[in-house]
Amino acid sequence: MKVYKFGGASVKDAESIRNVAQVLQKVGYSDVCMIISAMGKTTNALEEVVALYVEQVDYQTKINEIKEQHLQVVQDLFDQPKRTTQAVENLFSDLEAFLRRNKSPNYNYIYDQVVCKGELVSTTIVSEYLNTVGIHNAWYDVREYIKTDDTYREGQVDWEKTQKAIATLPKDRMIITQGFLGSDANFFTTTLGREGSDYSAAIFAYCLDAESMTIWKDVPGVLNADPRYFEDTVLLDRISYEEAIELAYYGASVIHPKTMQPLQNKNIPFFVKSFYEPLAPGTSVGQGQKISPKTACYILKKDQHLLHISSIDFSFITEENLSAIFNALYDAKIKVNLMQNSAISLSLCVEDKYQHLNELLNQLNHDYKISHEKGVNLYTIRHYDDNSDQCLAGKEELLRQTFKETLQIVTKS
Ligand code: ADP
Ligand code: ASP
Ligand code: MG
Repeated sequence: MKVYKFGGASVKDAESIRNVAQVLQKVGYSDVCMIISAMGKTTNALEEVVALYVEQVDYQTKINEIKEQHLQVVQDLFDQPKRTTQAVENLFSDLEAFLRRNKSPNYNYIYDQVVCKGELVSTTIVSEYLNTVGIHNAWYDVREYIKTDDTYREGQVDWEKTQKAIATLPKDRMIITQGFLGSDANFFTTTLGREGSDYSAAIFAYCLDAESMTIWKDVPGVLNADPRYFEDTVLLDRISYEEAIELAYYGASVIHPKTMQPLQNKNIPFFVKSFYEPLAPGTSVGQGQKISPKTACYILKKDQHLLHISSIDFSFITEENLSAIFNALYDAKIKVNLMQNSAISLSLCVEDKYQHLNELLNQLNHDYKISHEKGVNLYTIRHYDDNSDQCLAGKEELLRQTFKETLQIVTKS
């Protein structure tokens, strides 16, 4: 069996969904399990619904807007849209009913019960559409198959239960299911972390002992830099799992960082290909493959915070201080992307995904002197050489660090 993942960009509107059918017709679809994300930016829009709901202000207008967008796609795709329209409307009615009845104050729990609708509705539309154009498939609710703990918004996979459940899937038909979602022991919806559909596909590939996995993107494959921010990018034809993990870890958002581990464990060939050019080879990721072509790879992480932490009385920053600071960062779910220390100071480049940094700094201010610069950029250059940092000429450099073949530079944005 092959696992295909179609992300948000590949199903963002009616034309894109028609293109998915064309991709399948070109590359073949017998023995395929398809993992599909929410359409375009739907997850962001549903995040807004959650925020409005929690603030107790009008969220219905936003829901109506999202629903209308989906219904419009259905109108564009189907000659006889009645059945799919009804299915879409039912999903949004379920969402509204949940919000009316919910008593839980747990933000993360509410978040998962709401944002899951994006994937449920997109897979419903795509599955129905493919069936109408002769690509016969069966729709499955992934929450019956990917089982997690109850860490809402970052569900940790229960591999044993997941493997057992996925083993019950029929092998004689094309499967369509949702990325990003799972469920806990009580069958409440969980999500696997933003952009987590690549990881969902890898979970299926692992449990199905897939012959390969392909993620279909709006780029020709893994490039040596994000074309949104860098010019003259180069397609990487081949990379190892390790290289892919490093690139994803440092922020190459084309692959979710958790994707590689399940694939590497079973040595499953992995491809990143373009849904615009499905027959082009794209990037192949596999065991021990030397990066080809050998070129510097650039990764930009925006919206970082640079902290310089030093002791108030010029005493050393000891293991005890480091341990206290890192525990506090861990508790606040603040991710450290770079660290550098000297006798009396510690510099950190961090990411504050959940907006806990100010609270943490207030706490650390009792014991340390802290300077804080917001909105800095972190550039990571893998396989750098003497000329690799030329593209940063003119930017004000705040910190630089090298480790083996990786150079990291923090600049003002
Ligand atoms: P999906 O549709 O699956 O959600 P994403 O938008 O998450 O796809 O990933 C594709 C995007 O990743 C590209 O449009 C590109 O801007 C970005 N990207 C970041 N780094 C790279 C890279 N090294 N190579 C290719 N694309 C990259
Ligand atoms: N729809 C989810 C998100 O936008 C998951 C994904 O697309 O990978 O984060
Ligand atoms: Mg995405």
